Amino acid sequence: MVRKVWLSLLIFLFMGSVTASAARLENVRHSYGSGTLRIVLDLTEEIEFVESTAENPSRSIIDLQNTTVSNEFHNYFKELNSTAAKKIRVARFNDSTVRVVIETMAAIKIFKLNGGPSGHRIVIDVGNADFKENPELNKAQTDAEKKAAEEKAEAEKKAAEEKAEADKKAAEEKAEAEKKAAEEKAKAEKKAAEEKAKAEKKAAEEKAKAEKKAAEEKAKAEKKAAEEKAKAEKKAKEKERKEKDRKEKDDSPKDVDEEIKELTGLKGKIIVLDPGHGGNDAGAIGPTGVMEKTVTLRVALELEKLLREKEAVVIMTRTTDKTVSPKGSKASDIEELQARCDVANREKADIFISIHADSFTNPAARGTTGYYYAKSDTDDGRRLADAIRRGLCEQIKTPSRGTKPCNFYVVRHTDMPATLLELAFISNPEEEKILDSEDGVKKAAQGILDGIEDYFG
Ligand SMILES: [Zn+2]
Repeated sequence: MVRKVWLSLLIFLFMGSVTASAARLENVRHSYGSGTLRIVLDLTEEIEFVESTAENPSRSIIDLQNTTVSNEFHNYFKELNSTAAKKIRVARFNDSTVRVVIETMAAIKIFKLNGGPSGHRIVIDVGNADFKENPELNKAQTDAEKKAAEEKAEAEKKAAEEKAEADKKAAEEKAEAEKKAAEEKAKAEKKAAEEKAKAEKKAAEEKAKAEKKAAEEKAKAEKKAAEEKAKAEKKAKEKERKEKDRKEKDDSPKDVDEEIKELTGLKGKIIVLDPGHGGNDAGAIGPTGVMEKTVTLRVALELEKLLREKEAVVIMTRTTDKTVSPKGSKASDIEELQARCDVANREKADIFISIHADSFTNPAARGTTGYYYAKSDTDDGRRLADAIRRGLCEQIKTPSRGTKPCNFYVVRHTDMPATLLELAFISNPEEEKILDSEDGVKKAAQGILDGIEDYFG
């Protein structure tokens, strides 16, 4: 029960307070004119006021009715820097009245302004100026509006600045991005240009290389042509010389047989005889131990004798049981064979004859073979091999195994018509006997000579 009484009392006090302080003075402002002063009182409600004056010092008193004041402006005091008024005071006069005192000698004019954004105001103009009709001062009357406008302007300015800053930043970023893109583009173009230049350089190098190669091949072909021309000229000269000799002989009376002999004979022919094997290389060995190197040398020496009788120029790759290469037994097979070719090529021989004897595991194998190098650009090699093979078969009565193309080193690497002869099979007992006999050697030499004469005839 006691509690209920206290609550009712609190409600009563609260309501009474609201009734007694319906309006409140919130703010006191002032602004200066030329010899004038305007004081504005901002209130929460429209109020009534009572105006009076007092002397010593001269004062205007405005009592705001049914009004209270915020703590901020209770006992408010302001010294004024104006000729119109010296001081202003604000204080609670009693529970329902706030008193405003202005120390002034000048007349004052008081009016109310209600509504609008600035709320309820009491305006006190001190001095003679008509503030209402002065727009500048009238504007100053509403400092809060001005402040708001300034704040708004400030905010707008700030926003504009921020926008400008953001725009600037965006423009800078855009410029940066464009710059970067331009740099990358330039870089890519540079790279492309470099690659193009590289490709062009390579193409030029390849072209130069191809031209160089073509020039070299042309020079080679020209050299070969010149050599062939010189060879042809030499041959033509020789023919001319022979014709001349014959004419001279025609002038003097001579035997017809002698004439023919000189035209078709072996006189002056350069013939290289190559007895196969020699020295540390015995060649094939027969059933009774007859060595190929011995047979080939014997036949070659006999043939040399016969050819010299025909006034041929005979050159032997060897005349004793030795190798042809000066390296002797240390020479490789190729070196030894090349040494034999070198003799014929150096002497510019008309023909080259390499003499050998054949051999096979089966002792029944027999016969005579003439070999030539098939790739020769004339038919002379085959003709020479065939003529000699025929001569041999007739003389030593061996069966013919034919005239065959081959790839033997000595016939391939000599510059003139060349043949390699397999006289007979040293591995065959009967043919070994022929090759080892005095009669057989002589007949073999005769058979080769017949072939040579046939070839030149
Ligand atoms: Zn041989």
